[in-house]
Amino acid sequence: MSKQGFTTRQIHADRQLNQPEHGAVHTASTNSVLFEFKDAQGIIDVFQGKQAGHVYGRSSTGSAVALANQINALEGGCGAVCFATGMAAISGLFLALFRQGDHIIVSQYLFGNTRSLMATLSDIGLQISFVDVTSLEAIQEAYQPNTRAVFTETVANPATQVADIQAIGKYCQERQIPLIVDNTMSPPPLFNARDLGASLVVSSLTKFVAGHGNALGGVVVDTGLYDWQAFDNIKPAYQVADPRQWGLTQIKKKGLRDMGATLSPDAAHKIAVGMETLGLRMQRACNNAQQLATFLDNHDKVARVFYPGLADHPQHFIAREQMQNGYGAMLSIDLIDSIDPVAFLNALTLVICATHLGDTRTLALPVAPTIFFESGAQERARMGISETMIRISVGIEDLDDLIADFGQALNQF
Ligand SMILES: *Cc1c(COP(=O)(O)O)cnc(C)c1O
Repeated sequence: MSKQGFTTRQIHADRQLNQPEHGAVHTASTNSVLFEFKDAQGIIDVFQGKQAGHVYGRSSTGSAVALANQINALEGGCGAVCFATGMAAISGLFLALFRQGDHIIVSQYLFGNTRSLMATLSDIGLQISFVDVTSLEAIQEAYQPNTRAVFTETVANPATQVADIQAIGKYCQERQIPLIVDNTMSPPPLFNARDLGASLVVSSLTKFVAGHGNALGGVVVDTGLYDWQAFDNIKPAYQVADPRQWGLTQIKKKGLRDMGATLSPDAAHKIAVGMETLGLRMQRACNNAQQLATFLDNHDKVARVFYPGLADHPQHFIAREQMQNGYGAMLSIDLIDSIDPVAFLNALTLVICATHLGDTRTLALPVAPTIFFESGAQERARMGISETMIRISVGIEDLDDLIADFGQALNQF
């Protein structure tokens, strides 16, 4: 099956991996919270992990597990677990795996809400060092004896810094610590986190994977590369069976069962349907983004374009090595000083002013006064975010229509 193309695999994945009842080609979205056991020994065996099965909807449902299986196959992992949102996946993972006093090396270029979560985690006793992940030396310098993991986004939102995942992965392997990547901005088939040495992949399914702005979801995938026997924080109760499953077992038990950040069956179904066209949409959106970035880069009203696909992007060369099939569908711009970003956004007619990413529709938003407002000017500067930056999530519209809309808006100034 792995020899087949990406989209072929996607549209047959649910049917082949999950074998839905009655020959259905989709796993049913079952809303039962409880599961009956005709023989009481059955519920005992499932509770004790001797038998696979569902006992209660907060811990697992057929719909969420079916989606996790599909995403796991996509990433080539050894297991996956779905969450209610991308933030639930990130917070569930961190709270499940780390303890007070642990040190974690974290990218200084982070999605705003993740940055804010890191502040909460340091309030409760994790030590977080924010480093420039475009520099392996910076990561090496931040390492301490109590460092438990490195966490970075593949392509940072919104200023598009690209981390050298392969180099960081190799370093983490030497140190026997997991490399956790947030792959929201570069979902498969753009980026193969396992091939590049990531141990855990966390992603917001709300964005490109679901793709249509109609469902929230998140996922953690274990690529199977990390040896959990080297990780001090796995509870004895979860050190059972295959050590490759230890990390994910603890994440499931803590993140879903104890914290309750569970993906709803309806959302799982919507995400699975959206995912069927992930390859097609990424191809179209990445091509649109590349062409739009080039158009904007050549426009005299645009001062700067941030897009890894442009030859003058500071990490273009790393992006070229580690991203296949396109450089993503998000770019950011700074207009020339004389143009007010708010007036410019109001001049766009097709493009929607909204905070979201990875939609079929092209979206734009002023970054500093909205999603990074809480960070303050100093923090924004450190993240490479200018006060006038506009983030653009490029959709799958016909390219000419996008260029026409940006062109007419720029010509008004
Ligand atoms: C949106 C986003 C998240 C959070 O995902 P939600 O599903 O909205 O909770 C996490 N990381 C990145 C990089 C994102 O863009």
